[in-house]
Amino acid sequence: MGLVVQKFGGTSVADAERITAAARRAIRAKLAGHQVVVVVSAMGHTTDELVNLAYQITENPPKREMDMLLSTGEQISIALVAMAIHKIGHDAISMTGGQVGLYTDSAHTKARIKQINAERIFKHLKAGRIVIVAGFQGVTEEGDITTLGRGGSDTTAVALAAALQAERCEIYTDVNGIYTADPRIVPKARKLDRISYDEILELASLGAGVMHSRSIEFGKKYRVPIHVRSSLTDEPGTMICEETTDMEDIAVRGATVNKNLARLTLMGVPDRRGVAARIFQAVAEGNVVVDDIIQNPLPDNRANISFTVALSDFNEAKAIADNLNQEIGGLGVVYDDQVAKVSVVGVGMRSHTGVAAKMFQALAEAKVNIQNISTSEIKISCIVARDEADDALRRIHSAFALDAEDEA
Ligand code: ASP
Ligand code: MG
Repeated sequence: MGLVVQKFGGTSVADAERITAAARRAIRAKLAGHQVVVVVSAMGHTTDELVNLAYQITENPPKREMDMLLSTGEQISIALVAMAIHKIGHDAISMTGGQVGLYTDSAHTKARIKQINAERIFKHLKAGRIVIVAGFQGVTEEGDITTLGRGGSDTTAVALAAALQAERCEIYTDVNGIYTADPRIVPKARKLDRISYDEILELASLGAGVMHSRSIEFGKKYRVPIHVRSSLTDEPGTMICEETTDMEDIAVRGATVNKNLARLTLMGVPDRRGVAARIFQAVAEGNVVVDDIIQNPLPDNRANISFTVALSDFNEAKAIADNLNQEIGGLGVVYDDQVAKVSVVGVGMRSHTGVAAKMFQALAEAKVNIQNISTSEIKISCIVARDEADDALRRIHSAFALDAEDEA
């Protein structure tokens, strides 16, 4: 039997009891004949508490020191998990990111993994130990501690699984798997048995907070099967895997909503070469990430250009848009900070027709006005009023029969 990587999130190591349960799970896999590497997050809300502490000291904590601080959360949990395994009578060793040779660039608080030297892990595995690795952290070539961005333990786990050529990566969490939609909004949402890397990446970018996106990118690149499942039960969860041809049998795998959006419209901008370039250059320079862009031509060689941004960037975007309006001689700016985006995702869209029509029909029946539509090969998104978004999601979910049992 091969090597497995098991990752336990914050709630799955929240207290002594949960830590012991995680230890038992790792031991079970070992007794079943696997080599086992465990990756853990910080206990419960530890990371949030540390962030909070830092901001009590200063509004502007130096990023290097932030990493020094936040990485301690995971160091607590690896030591405790290793102790729990020893207590049950098995051999385990805890290791920090630096100790396992997980090298990153020096972009503190959002570092990217550059290289993993797996020798030390292999040495301990060969000696029969369960290796417990601190998630979320790495080290630069100079030896400075870095972190991979909030939620980054998923990425540690999948990257390690890739580097160690693990048979699979198991993500133990507080949900049973990945659902057709957020069950808090759509009570009829159903757990998926399988989902492809591309589908989950698309869902994640559309606001479904399932896993750290970078972890899925690693999984996809190195073809690591990822099993997302509950740490409270033995029930299988959802496999994130490579696409198989039968996955195209159904058009839509899941639906999601992002309620944190705002739209800005630059009205009546001169419709000539270079104007769009100027607008989005200014927006980018303000570090505002643009979601959708819509351009509508008007008479007299003018156009309306709208774009949506995250609500958290709205104030910056507004200031930039007002300046641009002056600069390029537009006819004014209008804002709407009450928008949301509902989306459906599925690799089956590549081969099915009528998916968009069905989605628009469902929205029409729900009397929801569509303010904008955007598509990719495997998704269709509509901007709608935020107060209609949940209802829109439920209608769409039903229209595509996502609550029905049989699944490709
Ligand atoms: N402890 C870190 C966080 O809360 C990393 C993780 O849990 O994945 O963001
Ligand atoms: Mg997490």
